[in-house]
Amino acid sequence: MYWMGIDVGTGGTRALLVDAHGRVRHTAMHAHQDMRMEKPLWAEQDPGDWWAAAQSAVRAVLKKAHATGDDIRGIGLSGQMHGLTLLDEANRVIRPALIWCDQRSQAQVDGINAIVGVSGMLEATANPVLTGFTLPKLLWVRDNEPANSARVRHVLLPKDYVRFGLTGEYASDVSDASGTALFNVVNRQWALDLATKLGVDSAILPRVYESDQVTGYVTKQAAESTGLKPGTPVVAGAGDQAASAIGNGIVTPGVVSCTLGTSGVVFSYLREPNYDERGRVHTFCHAVQDAWHVMGVTHGAGLSLQWFRKELSPGVEYDALMDEAAQSEPNAKGLFWLPYLMGERTPHLDSTIRGGWIGLTASHKRADLIRALIEGVCYSQKDCLDLVEMLGGRVESVRVSGGGARSEFWRRVLASVLNREVVRLETEEGSAYGAALLALAGCERGGDVRGVCEEAVNERDIVPPDTQWRDVYLVGHKTYQSLYPAVKGALA
Ligand code: ADP
Repeated sequence: MYWMGIDVGTGGTRALLVDAHGRVRHTAMHAHQDMRMEKPLWAEQDPGDWWAAAQSAVRAVLKKAHATGDDIRGIGLSGQMHGLTLLDEANRVIRPALIWCDQRSQAQVDGINAIVGVSGMLEATANPVLTGFTLPKLLWVRDNEPANSARVRHVLLPKDYVRFGLTGEYASDVSDASGTALFNVVNRQWALDLATKLGVDSAILPRVYESDQVTGYVTKQAAESTGLKPGTPVVAGAGDQAASAIGNGIVTPGVVSCTLGTSGVVFSYLREPNYDERGRVHTFCHAVQDAWHVMGVTHGAGLSLQWFRKELSPGVEYDALMDEAAQSEPNAKGLFWLPYLMGERTPHLDSTIRGGWIGLTASHKRADLIRALIEGVCYSQKDCLDLVEMLGGRVESVRVSGGGARSEFWRRVLASVLNREVVRLETEEGSAYGAALLALAGCERGGDVRGVCEEAVNERDIVPPDTQWRDVYLVGHKTYQSLYPAVKGALA
């Protein structure tokens, strides 16, 4: 018996099977076509490609497991957030989807803020509206493609288009809906007054469920194309960040996750829907009923090291760079790295700030450059953690994942900067895993997401802070924080 998670990522769609204890048993992936970037700021994908990839990935994972549809007891979905899929009255896709990283809608964001006000948006949705979110994309289509706009009968998020393929239902979940800028995160329902104010017909919005609730059942037609059994339940699932947090067991206060991927994300559980009045972190509904989550983002986390390797150390492996950095000393002889290679999200919300090393002398070695770079990324993550703690309360330990977490040295610097134990998990399967756990919870365990996580998610590799490094970093973090306004002033 298995429970299946299907994650609609950007690069591809993954299907993953867990057993009754939530252990990963099989996975399969089918790549998507490259996203199209026809004009600056545009990013589009074809929803039909997501559905085709999902069907292939499901067939492939069943084959790997030597399983049939009879062996699958439930399905959970997760996916890239914020995307805009538009269907007409015959359920045809009207135009390619505008995906999460599409930034064309600044005029619509300005228009929304002019009508509703920045504080009005915070009150209605608990977050500022950003160009990446779904609502301004919908308004862009209305403003620029009136013929397409007139045909719109349904708006769906990426994973929910795959759900439509599987079950024929128009549905979403509270965590993914939180990233649309049309969702009342505090009350966990569509912000209907906001929709009315902006002239959005609420009849086009899907029905929203809690993440572990069943939204529909696999149809006969979908069963034929996937190998699943007709009638298999499909739970609401979650946006990729919330799903990944379920996979990391972030289902109680006090434990946060920190993902050191290309960007760095600090993610925390919230008992109450607290949000930052300045919008420096996102507060969204969590995939656990009656809970929320808050998220801070360092844009240039792994990206900093990736850039260094590509431009300044071509051909050198990441492990070798980490060994080299370990030969330097904490605070790299007075050197600081500002990781603003793509501006900064948290805590500055500043897309124009620029990065660099500050404090270079002729005695610095390459080892110092790398060490300062890792430390700078960790300082930015510390800024995220501080804001997250302000909203969610004391954090005891940090579960780290992503490419940077492969390095023991990086984990030790992170533990010392954050002054918290940093641990890795036995399973690092990301959002598809969280989606499968939601299916297990919703279809087998009466919605007990926490219980499922407690059984399935296990820690390993605990790295405590190094007390000497920690003391150096306590002072270093203050200097790091003082550099942003200085650079901002100098380059403005
Ligand atoms: P993505 O966010 O694109 O999914 P990953 O989670 O795989 O990416 O993270 C990639 C980043 O992780 C790289 O850019 C690099 O900075 C870092 N990384 C990868 N391998 C290592 C390693 N062995 N040691 C330190 N950092 C690493």
